Formats: sequence, C-alpha cells, structure tokens
Amino acid sequence: MTATILDGKLLAQKLSEDLKVEIIRLKSSSGKTVNMVNVMVGDDHGASAYANSQKRIADRVGINYQLLALPVKTTQRQLEGELERLSQDVSVNAIMLHKPVPDGIDFQKAVRHIAVVKDVEGLNAANLGHLFLSGTQILPCTPAAVMEHLRAIPNFSLRGKEAVVVGRSEIVGKPVAMMLLAESATVTVCHSGTSQAGQLEQHIGQAEVLIAAIGQAKFIKGEWIKKGAVVIDVGINSIDDKIVGDVDFESAQTRAAYITPVPGGVGPVTVVCLMRNAVEAFKLQNK
Ligand code: NAP
Repeated sequence: MTATILDGKLLAQKLSEDLKVEIIRLKSSSGKTVNMVNVMVGDDHGASAYANSQKRIADRVGINYQLLALPVKTTQRQLEGELERLSQDVSVNAIMLHKPVPDGIDFQKAVRHIAVVKDVEGLNAANLGHLFLSGTQILPCTPAAVMEHLRAIPNFSLRGKEAVVVGRSEIVGKPVAMMLLAESATVTVCHSGTSQAGQLEQHIGQAEVLIAAIGQAKFIKGEWIKKGAVVIDVGINSIDDKIVGDVDFESAQTRAAYITPVPGGVGPVTVVCLMRNAVEAFKLQNK
C-alpha cells in the first residue's frame, strides 16, 4: 500500500480562494477592510520568515496585515499595554502575539490582554471555552487545519472512528481532541505518561485516524500504524537543516491510506485558517 498524500499547499490554495471571495463580499457590503496586526517582540529569524509567509497569504486574500515589531527589551507590562491599546483600537480587527517570545515574557499571561473578539489565534481561555461548549467562534488555527485536511478526504466521515491524538498541548493536542469529539469520533489522547507506561504503540495501533503533535523528529514508526489509517502529522522538527514531522514518513506511507507530508501538509493550511479567523473576528465586530 502507498498512501495518498494530503497536499497542504493545494488545499491552502483552494481555501484561500474561497476566503478571497468572502472578503470581497464583506468589503463591498461594509465598505471596510479586514485589518490584522501581528505583534512580534525581539528579532527572531524563524519568526520573521513565518511572518513573511503570513503577509504573503494576507495580501493574496485581501487582508491588510501589519507587523508590529517591538524591541527585545520590551517588558511584560509594556507588551500587555500595547496589546490593550490594539484591543481598543476600532480600526484593528485581529491581533496575534508571535511565538517565540523572549525570556522574561509570559506568553499565556500576555495573550489574556488581547480582546476575545480580536484573538485571531483562538488561544485565550474564552475562545478555548467556546470550543469546549461546541461553539464555532474563533478556532485555534492548527487544529482547524487538521480538521480541514480530514474534511478534504473524499467520502470520509469521522463518526465512530477510533481517533488517537498524540500530544496534549493547549495549542494543538487538546483543542484537536475536542474538535474530533464534536465530529463523533472516539478519541484517545496520548502523552508522555502513555509512553512511559509503554502503551503508546498499542494505542497508535488502534488508530483509524492518527494525529501526531509531539515535537519529536520521526518518533512514530510506520510499523506502529494500523493499515489503512489516516495520518495527520502536525510536527515541525529540524534534522540537519531539513524539516521533518513527528512521523517517520517513509515507513508510514507504506501502511497509511492517507498521510500529510512535512513540510507542505498542515503548515500551509494553518496560515489560511489564521486568515479565516481574522475574517471571523471582523464579522464578530461588525454584527
Ligand atoms: P508541546 O507543547 O511541546 O507539546 C508536546 C506534547 O507531546 C506534550 O503533550 C507531550 O506530553 C507530548 N509528548 C512529547 N514527547 C512524547 C512522547 N515521547 N510520547 C508521547 N507524548 C509525548 O508541542 P506543541 O506546541 O503541541 O507542538 C507539537 C509539534 O507540532 C511541534 O513539532 C510543533 O513545532 C508543531 N506545530 C506545528 C504547527 C503547524 O502549523 N504545523 C503549529 C503548532 C505546532 P506531556 O504533556 O506529557 O509533556
């Protein structure tokens, strides 16, 4: 068996075309532009490259994207003040705080100073709470991208499927588990405790849908994977300057029915989901 590749670049292109049409419609009905600000503290090369790719997609879909670069010595208090100022600025619809932040800045604490309706990454407690309550306001982008990949599989339903999520972070593992549950999958969440108990392979072997989000290069081996599974690899790791996922792609593609590549899988779709959130934020503010 050789898995069908779930091409994230192609999916991102399709989703961004749909988004572009929606933005044109919103502009003509409201006379307003969707404005997004990315707040970056310090000068991080990787983060700047990611910001450039965000700007490129924003330009493509018609969102006005601004990078606000703050000096590396910005204090927690100054950063929170800046996020509050942007939250009160009626011309700004969507705000994100770029990761990583320098030592001395508490990311989660800072994010609480972004207005809930402008929290474009869907990461503050109120937006995560909406997800828990099966609401559909502003969804965390990477989990939303995982779900877009699953929706793009022809004639595929999650209802009753054994779904295994490896990783339980606030930004990926936990929210994606809630989204899978909302689609009536039977969800198991694995983490370091599962590995330490020697149970990880066994759980992965049951998975009809496997979501890998652990941040360890090629950690999940092909032979662990159930034949015919759908494998979504969220991981972004670097080996010898090469980007690889959390799944050993070469061995996994001989077992899976569908698999996302890294790079070119979840990543490109995540950026479009971020832009879609900016539009959702705009709509919440212009009801
Ligand atoms: P994280 O906050 O470091 O969380 C990693 C999770 O994996 C934790 O829950 C941890 O368990 C679990 N874990 C680590 N080693 C494990 C092992 N050996 N066995 C079982 N579970 C293990 O990472 P994250 O922010 O969720 O990111 C995960 C990966 O996704 C990273 O490679 C990151 O770069 C990538 N990512 C990609 C995108 C994208 O757009 N494609 C976006 C965000 C993140 P414990 O909780 O028990 O410690």
